[in-house]
Amino acid sequence: MRLVFLGAPGSGKGTQAAKLREHFSIAHISTGDLLRAAVAAGTPLGLQAKAVMDAGQLVSDELVLGMLEERLAKSDTAQGFILDGYPRNIAQANALDGLLGRIGQPLDAVVKFEVPSEVIVGRCEIRYAAEGRADDHPDTVRKRLGVYAEQTAPVADFYKARGTLAVVDGVGPVDEVFQRIVAALPSR
Ligand code: AMP
Repeated sequence: MRLVFLGAPGSGKGTQAAKLREHFSIAHISTGDLLRAAVAAGTPLGLQAKAVMDAGQLVSDELVLGMLEERLAKSDTAQGFILDGYPRNIAQANALDGLLGRIGQPLDAVVKFEVPSEVIVGRCEIRYAAEGRADDHPDTVRKRLGVYAEQTAPVADFYKARGTLAVVDGVGPVDEVFQRIVAALPSR
């Protein structure tokens, strides 16, 4: 099963990806987590990305694509994967098409999480208090929501036009949202 999770920051992509990963024994690939690991390790890529991430903006397409390509080459993706946080704009969606075409691993579905902005802001405040991620500061969350609306929301239309988009209500208990996702996926 090869999936993309689309949704605003705090819409539950990471939480649900962790559950789905167990369910299908597939890899969970979060470009945000990969970038945070690079920042923590102080790699040249991490040093380049940090300021952009802290400002709530998108890291360069080229840099994220290279990182993703490397990650997809690992053996734990053999049964499939969930891309959490990629693609974030139309250029990335086109780049992903090219990459998955080259490695012969087309997507099975794209799941879009629908969560109202006031719920998003509340969830990010809770995460900010718990984890202290600079980009979860309420001012930065507002910026990230703007970036999402401008650059990432059109990606849903890109996949809708191909008939691979499943829209899921992301509000409610974690297990209920999980059941909705499983029900929305194509049967294999
Ligand atoms: P996330 O954990 O997915 O919310 O990502 C945290 C931050 O990492 C984002 O606000 C961006 O700065 C950066 N990031 C993650 N994924 C991407 C991507 N696909 N393209 C560009 N920047 C990204």
